[in-house]
Amino acid sequence: MPRPIAARIHPDAIRHNLQLAKQLAAGSRAFAVIKANGYGHGIERIYPALAGADGIALLDLDEAVRVRELGWTKPLLLLEGVFEPADVELAVAHRLTVAVHCDEQLDLLAAAKPRHPIDIQLKMNSGMNRLGFRPHAYRAAWERARAIPSIGAISLMTHFANADDGQVDWQLDTFDAVVRDIPGEQSVSNSAGVLWHPRAHRDWVRPGTILYGASPTGVARHVEGFGLRSAMTLTSRIIGVQTLAPQETIGYGRTFEVDRPIRIGVVACGYADGYPRHAPTGTPIAVDGVRTRVVGRVSMDMLTVDLTPCPQAGIGSSVELWGDQVRVDEVAEASGTIGYELMCAIARRVPVIVTDGADTPATAPAQGESVTA
Ligand SMILES: *Cc1c(COP(=O)(O)O)cnc(C)c1O
Repeated sequence: MPRPIAARIHPDAIRHNLQLAKQLAAGSRAFAVIKANGYGHGIERIYPALAGADGIALLDLDEAVRVRELGWTKPLLLLEGVFEPADVELAVAHRLTVAVHCDEQLDLLAAAKPRHPIDIQLKMNSGMNRLGFRPHAYRAAWERARAIPSIGAISLMTHFANADDGQVDWQLDTFDAVVRDIPGEQSVSNSAGVLWHPRAHRDWVRPGTILYGASPTGVARHVEGFGLRSAMTLTSRIIGVQTLAPQETIGYGRTFEVDRPIRIGVVACGYADGYPRHAPTGTPIAVDGVRTRVVGRVSMDMLTVDLTPCPQAGIGSSVELWGDQVRVDEVAEASGTIGYELMCAIARRVPVIVTDGADTPATAPAQGESVTA
């Protein structure tokens, strides 16, 4: 019998969150960002939920081809663009829009003789200092792109460094000053821009993390009130119980010492499943629907929880590591990371079950389903 752990993916939640993003940026079209295999949810699993998006954005050429093969006919954007001549051919063959962030990529496009022009998003480095043309070089890059016959429509894009803490104006002002007299559709907002910066919505927004129900800041309370739903629920069960007396300790390193008689549940989930080893004592977790806390150190295949708030719980009790009772952001915050990283890090060994009212499961319920249902 497989271990009772499972990740449930909820396309319904993504559909709902996408709708919400579109309402928030009502005048804009939306690229649904599904890089990193849909932030760990699985492109094929979530694809049916993306029908309402106006475009899809991702990084990986192989993933883009998969999306076209699923039948996507609307814009499909490669956020880092192309890396070599063969990429240009594939991008043309699959009608991809490519980000262009440096002269070398313009060289690649200039050297290509595609059957039809390729649309680009010309990226400005407005202060993130990762990818893009510096503001002073942007106009010249645009002039050069415009003169390259293989380039079709040119959109203007940039990316925010700290849209999460309310400061985008310094980048947006830089961007606006340069593009004032450059024609083209504009795209600047990630999830944080969608939630908090209407001034940045422009022609196209690019929400990623909020589609999956996670906060752009990594802090759950920052998105409270928006009605985002969790697209992933990580569940398992209790496989062991210990009743401990004061002064006994739990687990590796003996990091948690008991100060009163306590019942401890052992959960079939550890860092080899993608649960963060850094989750300290106190990290929220739900047992039989009751919120409690992780105690002691997370080990490879197991972690331990305080059963004090749920005295009826025992072997077989259901556990939610994250989902709607415990937001992935809460686990991330306790562990010093962000929900993005946890969602992307679900291990291959964890069975995935698609739970969706409307769609047939893309992944058949694993054998574990009867155990975890
Ligand atoms: C990842 C990414 C996004 C989406 O960011 P979120 O914070 O997940 O909304 C948007 N634009 C670009 C260029 C990205 O790389």
